[in-house]
Amino acid sequence: MNLFDTMAELGHEQLVHFQHRDSGLRCLVALHSTALGPAIGGLRMWPYATEADALRDALRQSRAMTYKAAVAGLDLGGGKAILIGNPETDKSEALLRAVGRFVGGLSERFIVMEDVGTNVDDMDVIYRETDRVVGVHPVHGGSGDPSPFTALGTAFGIRACLERRFGQGDFGRHSFAVQGVGGVGYHLVKLLRAEGAKVFVTDINQERVEPLVDEFRAEAVPMHQIYDVDATVFAPCAMGGIINEDTVPRLRCKIVAGGANNQLESNECGTQLESRGILSAPDYAINSGGLMNAAVELQGYSVERARRMVERIHGIVARILEIGARDHIASWQAAERVAEERLRTVAAIRQPYRARGGRGEDRYSGRPRPTLLTD
Ligand code: NAD
Repeated sequence: MNLFDTMAELGHEQLVHFQHRDSGLRCLVALHSTALGPAIGGLRMWPYATEADALRDALRQSRAMTYKAAVAGLDLGGGKAILIGNPETDKSEALLRAVGRFVGGLSERFIVMEDVGTNVDDMDVIYRETDRVVGVHPVHGGSGDPSPFTALGTAFGIRACLERRFGQGDFGRHSFAVQGVGGVGYHLVKLLRAEGAKVFVTDINQERVEPLVDEFRAEAVPMHQIYDVDATVFAPCAMGGIINEDTVPRLRCKIVAGGANNQLESNECGTQLESRGILSAPDYAINSGGLMNAAVELQGYSVERARRMVERIHGIVARILEIGARDHIASWQAAERVAEERLRTVAAIRQPYRARGGRGEDRYSGRPRPTLLTD
């Protein structure tokens, strides 16, 4: 890979490599854009086969984060931290503190949060070294587990899709096929069932399905049949790439809208979906509730403010779908257009972060926190 050419092509600002021999730290931080504010991004810990794989992931995901934060209306940019290692065997206090030391050194350019292979406890350890971390435990003034907020935002986005397709968004009149009932899927099923929706569920891990069948009377479906379920909405809440050339022709739903990241194997698959008459909610727009919840922490966490912000996902998804319909473009294209327009126009006039009297105080040092557009 020709590094500078690749960074220029994708629009990245900065790429940083950290190593610390004593703790075993090998960490990459990619900052795609700080045009709207400090870059925020998950810390992913994964035993990458090669350093090139880790680098590719850092570049791809930091760019996706720029788009996610832009569409969400946040004063934040996109970044990603990659910690090379096995989260089951290689994680230690020293390693996470080393991450904190180095991330803190990036100062106001980067804020780290949890991702695959890391969790709230890990963020707490990082917080011992730097305040440039969100998603710490509520006892430290943090926002904790983002999954319920991602699920809540996904439910708002699904309602916008139903309204666009059917003129009303009453869950109770529709059926849903939820793929993956971990953190996000579980909470989504709960929200759907609370309004009397018919819900089909599947998971690679049967232990996660049973409580939903017992507690919420969801109907279990074998894993490979979830695409064939005759439900109004297919809600992917497991892994990425599941909207692909094999699955698009099988889908019997009218809407694809779920919390999983990178649902489309390619943009063409998104276009194929729509040419089959299936409406789809761009994943990074509908699943931004967890990011919004974490972002609220930057101004002093309040669950009410987080909920209010997450409610905005209804309008965000509705607007994207409206642009798609108006301009005869797929929803993934409409979402890119919204993000790029905001990056271009807002970045041109915004001021660097400013303190706001009495609010946004840093949890430890009293320094002003970065502010959010939506405040
Ligand atoms: P999780 O690990 O808690 O849950 C994922 C679930 O999917 C697990 O129960 C797993 O067993 C199941 N699964 C894995 N492969 C499957 C398969 N082939 N078929 C059916 N089930 C399968 O993860 P999560 O936090 O709920 O995240 C789910 C998705 O949402 C991921 O794509 C994640 O990147 C995305 N996401 C999560 C958040 C968040 O706040 N947690 C925010 C934004 C996006």
